[in-house]
Amino acid sequence: PSPASLDFIREMIAADLAAGRNGGQVVTRFPPEPNGYLHIGHAKSICLNFGLAQEHAPNARCHLRFDDTNPTKEEVEYVDSIMADVKWLGFDWGTNLYYASDYFEKLYAFAEQLITKGLAYVDDQTHEEMRANRGTLTSPGTRSAGADRSVEENLDLFRRMRKGEFKEGQCVLRAKIDMASPNMNMRDPVIYRILHAHHHRTGDAWCIYPMYDYAHPLSDALESITHSLCTLEFEHHRPLYEWLINNVDGLPGAPYQREFARLNLTYTVMSKRKLLRLVKDNLVSGWDDPRMPTISGMRRRGITAAAIRSFCKTIGLTKFNSLTEIALLEHAIREDLNKVALRAYGVLRPIKVVITNYPKDQIEYFEAPNHPEDAAAGTRQVPLCRELYIESDDFMEVPVDGFHRLKPGGEVRLKFAFCIICQEVIKDAAGNIVELRCTYDDATRHGKKPEGRTKPKGIIHWVSARHAIDATVRLYDRLFTVETPDADAGEDGDFAQFLNPASLEVITNAKLEPSLKEAAPGSLWQFERVAYFYADPIDSKPGAPVFNRTVTLKDGWGK
Ligand code: ATP
Ligand code: MG
Ligand code: MG
Repeated sequence: PSPASLDFIREMIAADLAAGRNGGQVVTRFPPEPNGYLHIGHAKSICLNFGLAQEHAPNARCHLRFDDTNPTKEEVEYVDSIMADVKWLGFDWGTNLYYASDYFEKLYAFAEQLITKGLAYVDDQTHEEMRANRGTLTSPGTRSAGADRSVEENLDLFRRMRKGEFKEGQCVLRAKIDMASPNMNMRDPVIYRILHAHHHRTGDAWCIYPMYDYAHPLSDALESITHSLCTLEFEHHRPLYEWLINNVDGLPGAPYQREFARLNLTYTVMSKRKLLRLVKDNLVSGWDDPRMPTISGMRRRGITAAAIRSFCKTIGLTKFNSLTEIALLEHAIREDLNKVALRAYGVLRPIKVVITNYPKDQIEYFEAPNHPEDAAAGTRQVPLCRELYIESDDFMEVPVDGFHRLKPGGEVRLKFAFCIICQEVIKDAAGNIVELRCTYDDATRHGKKPEGRTKPKGIIHWVSARHAIDATVRLYDRLFTVETPDADAGEDGDFAQFLNPASLEVITNAKLEPSLKEAAPGSLWQFERVAYFYADPIDSKPGAPVFNRTVTLKDGWGK
């Protein structure tokens, strides 16, 4: 890339390399907490951190580190799903798989070191006292009496914390920094707390656990990370990050932290806590519900890893928070699926057509390209007989102005076949249209140019009724009805009130062209004129595919 096209992080790294920092190495990390499934926001961070390692190969690497310092919310299921999702996105940590919990012993030793240096102390104030003594933005806090104890006393107390002599909340370890700092994170932040909880990796070995703000910079340093990239909320934590790197002796690396804007998308929520709520309350079918903004949900919807990577590239990196329109993601999905999805015919809301002048027992085949822009994708033979299904939307009994598809007495082209004219509309006793009687004109067969005839403006897709397969098709729409469910709900409100009741419509009697009977689970399709679909790999059965609508064809982006 030309220097002018570099974002601020890549510029910064280029400057570091030019200055010979870190011996020319670029070492990044992606540090998820295993307390939920990854979402599209995480993909932004993954594409950045693993992307940098790829761009600077072979003098670079990206670590996958589980930030598993909070045992109460973490589970092995989440660890496994995170690894699967990172791989699926197309990235590889190689041998660089780490767990913050592997550093518990070292982190503990660093804490003793800080106590010994007079830079940390045990505080046994109550929660309320601690809060009251923190001060406010305009007034300094008051330091706890714990800070006045001797190093020996503090060491002894901390060791007893580790041994399990105290109850949860009875005391904490705090870094001794500055109770008057305008940055509240620097007012003697808590760095260890007591949690009598089972950890998914260390079991019951520990009953004190390091705080994220303490464990993170030291884990970075232990792994010789060079650039610790995180989201903007952590900007105010940066002084504490630097304080720890500067005050702990014996660290192999000297990383620094920089922040970029997190991804926020319209019509969804993107915090693991809220996504967990949707799962736990059965408001969706699971973490991989195709409506979820999770990587696993998007995969199950039929969104490709390439589309997600391309989206992340498009949004780029900035230093200010903003809201990205979901239409931009949908645009990236369409661009990708247009290239990779094969074409087929599917009718979602069928209406029967009988071609009265077509021989009763005749079957013929029309050749249709599998991909209009890729001859190498080949063609297939689509059968046709006297009875067809067309999309009920493609017929209007009382047509509105500008309606160019089928109407009484009107003519339309059946794609790749011939033109038909609607002669009669058959209704049931209740007045519902059950069948259209049409005639066809042999002179209008595909490729023929009959003299002196005006071509019909409309071209529609169709499926032979004798050959069609019945299929279940799931139409997914946006999960919420409003752009910013979080903000609209406000502090005390519930974002779930904005769930879109029409976000899933299940059609059980779609009529699809027979070739789709053998659609491989996980295959991607464009049902021409309808939408992009994905053969659901879990619910499809041999000979009975279930299709998820990935995205509609109409692109709203930039209009
Ligand atoms: P959430 O708030 O959704 O629970 P988190 O930040 O608590 O997310 P982590 O597991 O700690 O989740 O995130 C791992 C990495 O992914 C962090 O470096 C974090 O900054 C980054 N990340 C999380 N959400 C986003 C987002 N929306 N956009 C960009 N990066 C994100
Ligand atoms: Mg986090
Ligand atoms: Mg979080």
